[in-house]
Amino acid sequence: MPFQKNTDEFVSTSENLFPFIESLPDAVVIVNTDHKIVLVNSRAVDMFGYATNSLEGSDLTMIIPDRHRASHRHHVNGYFQKPVPRPMGAEKRFSGLRADGTEIPVDIMINTLHLDGVQVAMALVRDVTYQRELEDRLTMESRTDEMTGFYNRKHFKSQLEAQHSGFIRSGLPASVIMFDFDHFKTINDQYGHAGGDLVLIDTAKIIQRELRPLDVGCRIGGEEFAIILPNTQLQSAMAFAERIRQLVERKEFKVDHHSFHVTVTMGVASFSTEDSSYASLMKRADEALYAGKAAGRNRVVSQDSRVSQP
Ligand code: GH3
Ligand code: MG
Ligand code: MG
Repeated sequence: MPFQKNTDEFVSTSENLFPFIESLPDAVVIVNTDHKIVLVNSRAVDMFGYATNSLEGSDLTMIIPDRHRASHRHHVNGYFQKPVPRPMGAEKRFSGLRADGTEIPVDIMINTLHLDGVQVAMALVRDVTYQRELEDRLTMESRTDEMTGFYNRKHFKSQLEAQHSGFIRSGLPASVIMFDFDHFKTINDQYGHAGGDLVLIDTAKIIQRELRPLDVGCRIGGEEFAIILPNTQLQSAMAFAERIRQLVERKEFKVDHHSFHVTVTMGVASFSTEDSSYASLMKRADEALYAGKAAGRNRVVSQDSRVSQP
């Protein structure tokens, strides 16, 4: 028997416990209240790339990346105070630090017991590389428009909401450009739906090359796009929109043996202190866009309706 249960806690000796933790499919790291590692199984040795005798006797920080060290120490102390088995920082994504300096994504389950007469915490450490990659891929897919690789409407809204919070909290400016292709129905009619799709894909590529790392290019509807420009005032956003408008206008699209050009109409808006939510900004950009359509298309219109000439 590896364990005995004494009242509310398990009791064991290293000698009895070791064969049991060797049989587990996870890495096991046992630490005392001073955060010293007192016992590990061979899966922990394989996972972290240290010999058993380097791990045992060392401080737990040896296998924890710098950025997690403080919170990890806090969590371990928490377990000793309230020894209820539970996942460590369920809302957090932990990583282990290997001897070669690389990191390994892990989930950690923890419990306390008495080992050789002292209270210790036993962590089951599971390699979740595969799950994290899957999670990351699913998250990315849920934010992205498959056809253009741009972000989708859902992500557009959540990013705009985040920008609105930043603006309210710290006054950081942000602008949005919304645009819609001109006479796209005619493009579909003349070059087929696939021809129309190609225009959307190539336009996204043109724009992507112009974006700064923090800018967010989105496809928010069929042939409607939006660009979030963090830390950008209306005037700069207008200049950027005009540059994109010209790039699109000049682009020669090719479908089969036909070459043709397309144009877009753009509405530009920036956060103001009167905006109670990001929706007001979207509304202003949308109204500007439709003012541009009404004024003849192929132009950039700001929220205060100064129509720039094509
Ligand atoms: P306007 O200048 O007023 O915007 O004219 P429009 O013809 O572009 O009118 P509208 O924006 O209302 O029409 C959009 C058209 O775009 C209708 C729809 O069939 C087409 N469309 C929407 N999504 C896609 C898509 O993913 N691929 C293609 N090829 N066409 C699309
Ligand atoms: Mg449209
Ligand atoms: Mg259109």
